[in-house]
Amino acid sequence: MSIAIIFNNRKIEDWQEKLSAQLTNTKVEVYPEISNPEDVEFIIAWKPHKGYINEFPNAKVIQSAGAGIDHLLHTKLPEHVKVTRIVDEELKQDMFEHVLACVMISMKNMYKYSKSQENKEWKPVNYQSIKDVTITVLGLGKIGQFVAEKFVNLGFKVKGWSNSEKQIEGVKSFSGELELAEAVNGTDFIVNILPLTNETKGILNKNLFDEFSANTVLINVGRGAHLVDEDLIDALQSNQIKEAYLDVFNEEPLPVDHPFWENDKVFMTPHVASITNTSSVLLQIEDNYYKMKQKAGLTNEVSLEKGY
Ligand code: NDP
Repeated sequence: MSIAIIFNNRKIEDWQEKLSAQLTNTKVEVYPEISNPEDVEFIIAWKPHKGYINEFPNAKVIQSAGAGIDHLLHTKLPEHVKVTRIVDEELKQDMFEHVLACVMISMKNMYKYSKSQENKEWKPVNYQSIKDVTITVLGLGKIGQFVAEKFVNLGFKVKGWSNSEKQIEGVKSFSGELELAEAVNGTDFIVNILPLTNETKGILNKNLFDEFSANTVLINVGRGAHLVDEDLIDALQSNQIKEAYLDVFNEEPLPVDHPFWENDKVFMTPHVASITNTSSVLLQIEDNYYKMKQKAGLTNEVSLEKGY
């Protein structure tokens, strides 16, 4: 029995090293150097290549190396294969810190002052205060709920949207397609932390932007495919959206000829909002490995029917 790590575009060394140190009786190998694919029962994956699962006829569990599982589903999985994902306190906290940074930079016009400094201009601009600002969080899951609660604690007015209605202290909860417009209306910041599924793909589009109040700021830390890029460019052009803070993109790395690079209302980070810390998540992965061996229920298993 062995574990295969299949990572695309992500550092592998410390995952293999740390897992091997913990699971001393188990072979932990890195794709493509797998000595016997038939031995592999547990796969840890991040953006694996198409058809990956077909190379491991005895695979039972795919453990996503991150919170999302969308990157695993380009290949049809056999019915018996279970998929689990990362749920982690550090991941939630890092996401909150990233979103907070975007919100504060925007509220306090920090990027405008960077430009003024370059031009040696003394140019005061009106700022926003926390007590006057409303934030809508799209997706009130493990990460979204944590982020929403943190903003409530800081004194922001907070709304949230999810599939099912939530009772979260201080958060005005909206659910389902019919309440989406109400969730985003009259808000200063829309923060997308939804998972990417058939239902949420392209959800950040013109129709939704039409429901935004003028000068709303969009923060997308979910997935690039949630956003219809051309619709965002039009909405920025018409001042329907004031600024966009984007961490995730339809194509990563973002192609050099993409219009976002040249748009001075778009602020980009290269998918770094919240990165899985190996040390912090190792225990839950080991735990799932042992659970698989004991044929017990897995931790953080996702519903492949729902897609998250
Ligand atoms: P969860 O699965 O815990 O939460 C998902 C939330 O989205 C739930 O509240 C769910 O509603 C809601 N949701 C799903 N589909 C719909 C829908 N069709 N309509 C309305 N609400 C919906 O996910 P996490 O919070 O752990 O993570 C969310 C996403 O954040 C990840 O999938 C990933 O894409 C992204 N992410 C990005 C990172 C980055 O660095 N940029 C880092 C980590 C995560 P309900 O609660 O009712 O089921």
